[in-house]
This record gives sequence, structure tokens and C-alpha cells, in this order.
Amino acid sequence: MSLIVKKFGGSSVANAERVNNVARIVTDEYKKGNNVVVVVSAQGDTTDDLIDKAKEINPAASKREMDMLLSAGEQISISLLAMAIEKLGFPVVSLLGWQAGFQTDSNYTVARIKKIESERLKAELARRNIVVVAGFQGINKYDDVTTLGRGGSDTSAVAIAASLKADLCQIYTDVDGVYTADPRKVSTAVKMDEITYEEMLELATLGAQVLNNRSVEMAKKYNVELEVRSSLEPQKSGTIVKETVKMEKMLIRGVACDKNVSRISIVGLSDHPGTAFKVFNALGQAKINVDIILQSVGRDGTKDITFTVSKDQCKDAIAAVEKLEDSLKYSKVLHDETVAKVSIVGTGMETHPGVAAKMFEALSDASINIQMISTSEIKISVLIDVNDAERAVTAVHDAFIN
Ligand code: ADP
Ligand code: ASP
Ligand code: MG
Repeated sequence: MSLIVKKFGGSSVANAERVNNVARIVTDEYKKGNNVVVVVSAQGDTTDDLIDKAKEINPAASKREMDMLLSAGEQISISLLAMAIEKLGFPVVSLLGWQAGFQTDSNYTVARIKKIESERLKAELARRNIVVVAGFQGINKYDDVTTLGRGGSDTSAVAIAASLKADLCQIYTDVDGVYTADPRKVSTAVKMDEITYEEMLELATLGAQVLNNRSVEMAKKYNVELEVRSSLEPQKSGTIVKETVKMEKMLIRGVACDKNVSRISIVGLSDHPGTAFKVFNALGQAKINVDIILQSVGRDGTKDITFTVSKDQCKDAIAAVEKLEDSLKYSKVLHDETVAKVSIVGTGMETHPGVAAKMFEALSDASINIQMISTSEIKISVLIDVNDAERAVTAVHDAFIN
């Protein structure tokens, strides 16, 4: 007997027909004699709709109350799915995050899982129940409900798989695997049979939302084998994410695009030691995650520093910089939200010169201007105008993958 964790995202449980479809997938697994834990997220756009409802009442609502609200979406899904499984005549129990033992820190809306007290889960499995768990939520030391950040139910599933030492963790979604680019945007994207944790982590972090990056990080840490597959075509094999995969000649694994980016420039900073330290120290203390950084060459005793942050942190980042006005001399702070980051990822590029040139050539041929560049051993990212994003992804993808 195996223990399988299956996670179904919002589109997979969007309406009654889809919920019944998920119930069939789950019970087919159970019928094979396996134990099954199912993790579900909120139906369709429920989480976005709840956020809109909150904004109507209080745009500055506390994060604690946001979590109380947002966790409601998953509660609806688990009970409906459990009812669909009951209807098929199988033993089932639904559990909220706290009932399933999810203990988190107190960073409301972006909480991290500290541990899972898995006694209840184990007891339900020992009774041969199918266990349906609400993804995306837990409880903190004050007995308050917390949520794990958008897309967090992938992480809930991997955490359960790690804690119960499950044989496999399957992430069911509305595409049949991980592709070389978002298959909804790039018609020439190719499905991969396998991908390494490292490459998947980069792709997820750089904007491929098919898996949440924290879930991949956790899967790597606890060696949980992940499979991404389709809930709509469950007979199709998906993509396996694991430690090593057979080497292919592919230079790059995929292209990702992130539109949740803002660019901030501090212009005319006085050019002397300690300036960059002061800026990024202030941003760090304000808990701002800075991504790409560019510093211009000094001229006439001044320089410019440009950096990117996520859109939701843009206001706070500007406020943190403006607080430095007394201790730092600069002429102005500019910001631009009409940018996107396009990245290529692949362990193959480490040993191949000319990868960056090939990417920039593809962008140049498409007349797309590069605003910033950042590289690591296995990725190259460029910042461009958001209006060029789709064209850029296709141009870069087709230059490397055919
Ligand atoms: P779920 O609701 O199941 O969690 P998500 O919307 O979070 O689903 O993730 C699935 C979506 O991820 C797909 O519909 C697809 O458009 C998008 N996506 C982005 N990049 C990729 C990629 N490289 N491979 C597959 N899907 C991708
Ligand atoms: N429902 C949550 C969200 O929309 C969690 C998830 O889908 O994974 O972000
Ligand atoms: Mg998702």
C-alpha cells in the first residue's frame, strides 16, 4: 500500500462538475488500495473575490483579518469535495489547516509552516478514511488562523507529503505538466517529462506559477518527489520534479515571465563610500525584497542606483528611501510599474559561453529594449517594458527551443 498526496488547484475544483471529477480521480486511487490525502485550494477565483470584498469594506484591513477571510475559500472546497466523495460511497473526512496540525509563524498573509502535528492525519488514514485537507492555511501560537501566501496550497501538499513520508506528491492543475514556457502564452512551448528541483525552483521564483516556489524548495529539502499533471486529462502522464534528470542537449530548460515588478531609481546620489550600504540597509530593515540592482558609473560626484522590487512593496520601498533624505543626498526618486522581467533558466548554460548573447540577439531582432540585466550560474533575467513581455518570451523561447 502506498501513501499518495494529491493537490488540486482552484481551476480543478471551480464548479460542481469539476469537484465530481476530482472525487473520481481520488477514489480511483483509493480503490487501488492506496491511502490518499487530498489538498485543495479555493474554487476558481474565490481568493481574488474575497480580496475584492475586503477592499470594498476596508482597503487597509489588518493582515490578521485578511487571513480570517481568505482561509474561508478553502473551507468551502474541502467540504464540497468531501460531499462528492461521500456520494460515491467512500469513507472521507475533511480537515481545516489547524485540524490537520499545520502550525505556522505569525507573519499573517505570508506565514511559514513551522511543523505539522500529524497525529490526526495518521489516525484518519489508519481508519482508511480519505482525508481532504484545506490548503494555504494554518494556525499560529495565538490560535489565530494564518495563510501561507498566494499559491500556498502547493506548499501545504508538499509539507504533508514530507511529514507523512508519502510515496508521491501529485500537483493536479489545468495544464498537463511543466512546459518550457507558459503553454497558454507560447504555442511552441514543449512539455518536459522531468525537471530538477533546482531548475524548477528558479522557474517558479521567476514567474512560472505552475508551482509555488516555496513548495519546490520544501520538496528539495525533504526529497519529496513531485509530479505536475492535469486534473482534466488525468490519464496523461505529467512532469516529474526530482534531484537529477537525464542530461539532454538542451541549453536552457525554460523561459519565465514576471509582471509583478516595479523599478525604482534614486537619481543624483552623492558618490562616496557607504551610500549603497545605507540604501539597502534601510530597505532590508523595512523587510523589502530587492531583486535586480544596477549602479551607474559616478559622474561629477554623483551616481544613480536603480533596483527592482515586487509591485506590492513599491510604496514601502519608496517610503524607506525617502526617510533617508536627511542622511543621504540625492536629487529625486523615480519609479516605473510598467516593466516585466523575462528570464531563461537552465543548468546547461553554466558551461556554454554565448548564451547571454543569444538571448540579447533574440530581443534585439524583435526590437525590444533591455533596461536591466541580471545573471547567475543558471539563469539570465532582463527587465523590459511590460508591453513587450509576451513578444519577448516568444522570441527568446523560440531562439533556444525548437
Ligand atoms: P492552480 O489553480 O492549479 O494552482 P495555477 O494557475 O496556479 O493553477 O498554475 C497553472 C498555470 O500556470 C497554467 O494554467 C499556466 O498558464 C501557468 N504556467 C506558467 N508557466 C508555466 C510553465 N512553464 N508550465 C506550465 N504552466 C505554466
Ligand atoms: N487559494 C489560494 C490562492 O489563490 C491558495 C492557492 O491557490 O494555492 O492563492
Ligand atoms: Mg497555483
